[in-house]
Amino acid sequence: MSAATFGVVMSLLPFSDLAPYKPRQFVPAQIDLGDWAQISPLFDALEKRLAEINDPGALEEWLLDWGELAAALEEEGAKRYIAMSCHTDNADAEKAYIEYIEKIEPELKPRNFKLDQGYLAHPARAKLSPARYGIFDRSTKQMVELYREENVPLETEEARLGQQYQKLSGSLTVQFRGEEKTLVQMGRYLEEPDRPLRQEAWELVAKRRLEEVEKFEDIFDQLIALREKIAKNAGFSNYRDYAFKARGRFDYGPEDCYKFHDAIEKHVTPLVHRLNDERKQKLALDALRPWDLSVDPLNLPPLRPFDKVETMVERTQSIFDKLDPGLASGFRRMNDLKLLDLANRKGKAPGGYQSTLSEARLPFIFMNAVGVQRDVETILHEAGHAFHALATRGEDFFAYRGSPIEFAEVASMSMELLGNEYIETFYNADDAKRARRKHLEGVIDVFPWIATIDAFQHWIYTHPGHTRAERKTAWLALMDRFGSKIDWTGYEETRAYIWQKQLHLFLYPFYYIEYGIAQLGALQVWANSKKDRAHALRQYQDALALGGSKTLPELFAAAGCKFDFSDGAVGPLAQLVQTELTKLG
Ligand SMILES: [Zn+2]
Repeated sequence: MSAATFGVVMSLLPFSDLAPYKPRQFVPAQIDLGDWAQISPLFDALEKRLAEINDPGALEEWLLDWGELAAALEEEGAKRYIAMSCHTDNADAEKAYIEYIEKIEPELKPRNFKLDQGYLAHPARAKLSPARYGIFDRSTKQMVELYREENVPLETEEARLGQQYQKLSGSLTVQFRGEEKTLVQMGRYLEEPDRPLRQEAWELVAKRRLEEVEKFEDIFDQLIALREKIAKNAGFSNYRDYAFKARGRFDYGPEDCYKFHDAIEKHVTPLVHRLNDERKQKLALDALRPWDLSVDPLNLPPLRPFDKVETMVERTQSIFDKLDPGLASGFRRMNDLKLLDLANRKGKAPGGYQSTLSEARLPFIFMNAVGVQRDVETILHEAGHAFHALATRGEDFFAYRGSPIEFAEVASMSMELLGNEYIETFYNADDAKRARRKHLEGVIDVFPWIATIDAFQHWIYTHPGHTRAERKTAWLALMDRFGSKIDWTGYEETRAYIWQKQLHLFLYPFYYIEYGIAQLGALQVWANSKKDRAHALRQYQDALALGGSKTLPELFAAAGCKFDFSDGAVGPLAQLVQTELTKLG
């Protein structure tokens, strides 16, 4: 089955077989990475060798070999995932991916943990350069310190509850004008100029969600209880403090997050209120209701940036041609190697992502373009991630080819802002303004939501044993603090439980403020580019090339930004966006 599986996966990939960036030294060329019986001897060999090493040079070689194995395995998983998401209707592709998830990945966790432990305890480690290995060592130490055997089944249970949440969310449908629609499908009606239609669509979704409030509450209460237990087992008095360590937050703490909340409240929330007032006036409404936020304020039809995906690729290429020769050749190369699968078609999974083929050290972009402005934002965003992967190709130490999310999203969000400067490749002058305005409004709108979700999680996990009623009160207080001043009359319950639609709360606790931190970095890169474009792009690419080898403040500094999310940093950036929005009219 396994060799056949390999053939199936290869035949379904949009790109042809790619050679490893460097020839393998440790992993056999002919190994089947879907067969655990062939993989486990390599872990045995690494363990045995570690015990025999007695000089730092040999330890460094050992780290490279371990990384080579990790990269080969990661690429195997990525290829199976790509084949499946490009062909959801192919049962063999699904089987190949599930097999990898169920048979290979669970075996890897304990074996890697053992190597982590062995590495940390090794006497030669003290002789390695701290400048080179300091970052790797601190995260390896953290993982080993947090690891508890008794937490493994609790984490499995946590993943099961997460799946339950996704299943419940994904199963919700409504009957809209005689047709069954998913809640995601209903989203597009909120852009319709016909207001009663928007209201009808919004109400249906809100009502459907309210029917499931208690089910979502049940899942969430179980998740909180599990997480508190996991934290206690690891020696923490609350889950918040555990989560900060588990997420590898070495460079900021809860106090910094509180500063971020205050800064957003002071500088961004008032800007959202002002934008909503403008919207209300343009739409000539007495009151702005929840279904009035996505429609074009002048009731214009949606932007149409392209018809065919080939045109989107050409126009995106010409943006990079104007922006920077290095980025331009990177994107052209991806296109030549068929590392772009962008068109929406039957049998493709929804959404978009960038994945890295870790052994070839090449990025791949997947999306479902249909010819809307959102597609242009997505391709620029994912291209930013792809440029990050290309920039770290020369790094031989696998652990440093990836970077922390707080900085990875700087790479992608900067590219949205920088690329939008040349969006005339897609639009005439008026539509380009509209597209820029829509994008910048989106940048501003999301900050208060990030603060709300983050502050809510701080409250939840520092108030153990809270009741559902207390949680509701805490949420509503945050909605009053950060939320827009739109008219919710008649929909108070929807407002009180709207957090239930935020998947991160259920699946990735405390993961959300990263987007806010990264967006502040991206806005700084953009501000720098307005003063000296070539220099800003040089700094951007230099910072990307550092991968994960430096601390967050160092990565931000290399990109020409400050790693600072307090009042003094947020104020000028909010001002910059406001100035740009005013220019766009
Ligand atoms: Zn991203």
